[in-house]
Amino acid sequence: MKVLKFGGTSVANPENINKVKSIVQGKDDGKKVVVVSAFGGVTDVLLDTLRLASEQNLDYHKGLKELEQRHINAIKELLPVQKQSAVLSKVKSDLNVLETLLEGSYLIGEVTPKLSDKIVSYGELLSSFIISEFFIAEGMNATFTDSRQLIVTNENYGKATVDFDKTNSNCQSHFKMAQEQVFVLPGFVASSNSSNSTTLGRGGSDFTAAIIAAAIDATILEIWTDVSGMYTANPKLVKQAKCVSHISYEEAMELSHFGAKVLYPPTIQPVLGKEIPIVIKNTFSPNDEGTRITKNTNGEGKTVRGISHVGNISLLSLEGPGMIGIPGISKRFFETLSMESISVVLITQASSEHSICVAIADEDVDRAVDAVSQAFEFEMARKKIKPVLVEKELTIIALVGDNMKSHQGLSGKMFSTLGRNNVNIRAIAQGASERNISAVIKKSDVKKALNSLHEEFFEENIKQLNLFVMGVGNVGSKFLEQIRQQREYLKDELQLNLRVIGISNSRTMAFDEEGINLNDWEATLAKGQNADKSKFFDIVTALNFRNSVFVDNTASNLVADSYPDYLKNSIAVVTCNKIACSSDYGFYQELKQLSKKYNAPFLFETNVGAGLPIIDTLKNLIASGDKVNKIQAVLSGSLNFVFNNFNDHVTFHDIVKQAQEQGYTEPDPTIDLSGIDVMRKILILARESGNQLDIGQIENESFLPKESLETNSNAAFFETLKKNEAGFQSLYKKASEVDSKLKYVAQFEDGKAKVGLQNIPKGHDFYNLEGSDNIVLFFTERYPNQPLIIKGAGAGAEVTASGIFADIIRIGNF
Ligand code: ADP
Ligand code: ASP
Ligand code: MG
Repeated sequence: MKVLKFGGTSVANPENINKVKSIVQGKDDGKKVVVVSAFGGVTDVLLDTLRLASEQNLDYHKGLKELEQRHINAIKELLPVQKQSAVLSKVKSDLNVLETLLEGSYLIGEVTPKLSDKIVSYGELLSSFIISEFFIAEGMNATFTDSRQLIVTNENYGKATVDFDKTNSNCQSHFKMAQEQVFVLPGFVASSNSSNSTTLGRGGSDFTAAIIAAAIDATILEIWTDVSGMYTANPKLVKQAKCVSHISYEEAMELSHFGAKVLYPPTIQPVLGKEIPIVIKNTFSPNDEGTRITKNTNGEGKTVRGISHVGNISLLSLEGPGMIGIPGISKRFFETLSMESISVVLITQASSEHSICVAIADEDVDRAVDAVSQAFEFEMARKKIKPVLVEKELTIIALVGDNMKSHQGLSGKMFSTLGRNNVNIRAIAQGASERNISAVIKKSDVKKALNSLHEEFFEENIKQLNLFVMGVGNVGSKFLEQIRQQREYLKDELQLNLRVIGISNSRTMAFDEEGINLNDWEATLAKGQNADKSKFFDIVTALNFRNSVFVDNTASNLVADSYPDYLKNSIAVVTCNKIACSSDYGFYQELKQLSKKYNAPFLFETNVGAGLPIIDTLKNLIASGDKVNKIQAVLSGSLNFVFNNFNDHVTFHDIVKQAQEQGYTEPDPTIDLSGIDVMRKILILARESGNQLDIGQIENESFLPKESLETNSNAAFFETLKKNEAGFQSLYKKASEVDSKLKYVAQFEDGKAKVGLQNIPKGHDFYNLEGSDNIVLFFTERYPNQPLIIKGAGAGAEVTASGIFADIIRIGNF
């Protein structure tokens, strides 16, 4: 005989019940026991309705009406007209009793656990009756059996304890005698010796099915639900979760104990002794293989089999000097909790014996605090033990696997993954079975923690980066386009999944938790909310995604000011904005330290030489023990463009204008022409080589006349260029006379930096620099005479975007 259990969603409506019928009729025709839950959501409605009634709130009638309608509609849709009236009259009479019970609660303004069980049992009683009648009407050889006549429990209402001796013998005799092929039974409900209705705990229909399967030595227990098996993590929270095809009873028990709701924890116990396999299947995708739960998986597959979590947890701590070396404190503590029927989900005790800390359900906290405070009143009054400490709104996450005990380093990996993602761990425990490692964390971090751990333990190196991009102008839009083009390649070749979750320009900002569609991000952004930097930050932190990266493509100092906030939340920062690294040394230093402390990369390769790997190379030199003696560089793509094209046939004004129009200068061209931009770059290189330097210490002899530097609009600036054409021509003439070219050079040596226009003679490394190219010469201890040279395109939106992209990839490999 087979036992099949169908959960709430599987029987939520007539359409689904038809699917259930096909599955039950199935391929094989042996006898079948079919255990069903209440129609999806009905148990919650019943409990809510009862609560309202007991609070003397007449709104309880609404719930009653809803229940009436759902059940009557189901009958009307499932049964042919001629068969409806008998079923309707039975169901209506049940609903009348239900109404009377609720009215009773309303009148006395009270509810007892006994009444609650009686009322809530109607969910399963009605669903199973209607489904059995439907099966019969469809010509199946089916019958209804009331589980309350088979399963006997004590009167611990809400979660009664089963009397297995009586239950087993009831089941055996019942199914032996019966002639039918299919028995439809309500899950969840049972009855006490005195014939009072009891229930087996929320989610208890799984347990009903397991009790019956064990009692009648079923060949298999099939749990039909709304997911295709037991997953590596709750698929509703972790998109990448995968179905585990085979798992041991113990692993399944551990996962369900720590919150994998797909199986009610007590379910495994009855079938385990008899080694009846459990198979979890999807009613809505019956051909999926599902998960098979058996005695032993012989170490197949991974060490960590699943990650689960239990919410609504509080931590209760008892501590104080009076606990050290005094025997029996823990015993009294746990006895106190046990007397209150409070179950302890997790225990940690500091090795100093100074404190005991337990995790319990939020709903038990008040009772626990009262009871423990009373039990230790004497010690607390004498300050030997401190008042009970409570922390609420927590969650336990657990890694589970049979073979975890034989593997070292799993907990290290678990905690460093959480740490890297700024998930604060409140307590840690390792189960005595060594089959789980669990950690208590804040409720608000659950999704991030589950996803980071899942990525670490299950996703075979596929890493997801969640990008928040501020600034989608020239560089930003090219960057988004490059991501769009490269996404698939990165996924396939680098196992890197890039998603742009948020974008903003100065007017609007838009977010999509699933990733913004990069084919029409412009439209998405246009429809977005008003841009606001601090709100942008609030949304990024509230989303709390793992591997988040803030990308700054602006030139704004206000945006740069926000980097510390991102880094402190372990959010990486990638920027082409030079302001942060070239402003006050203290700020640069702070950003570097925050990056280290919070394990959040802070990358700014594009600050010098756009896409050229200049900073990265410098970093590698320093990290491998080299020392920089001197840096010589041409670092301004804009100035290079200008001086490469300037001669005695054109005017300086026209060339600068052309550079601006082609996007080679900053929007304000004086930033380039005054040399300030080059100063910032050499400053960054000097700092990255390990020197403490500020912009004021850099020598800059400007080739521009004073009046050009003092203008306050682009138009006025260009006017001064026209006016001083003769001066520029004379610079050109002097250089050509000595067979040299004009180059704007930055230099750092002996702790000093300077920038300025120089005549570069033929044969010099800088002489043949073309277009907007950049060049850097690093003279180091390893490269004392022949410098390490990096040369190439050093300006332009496209190469800058690709430099930002390269930083993102570096984070991916981090
Ligand atoms: P039913 O009503 O069929 O008993 P439940 O809602 O009780 O269904 O259990 C199925 C749900 O369990 C899934 O929809 C899923 O959200 C949740 N769940 C939690 N953890 C897991 C997991 N590790 N694997 C599969 N499902 C899980
Ligand atoms: N209907 C009950 C509940 O919602 C039992 C079950 O579905 O397993 O908890
Ligand atoms: Mg369930």
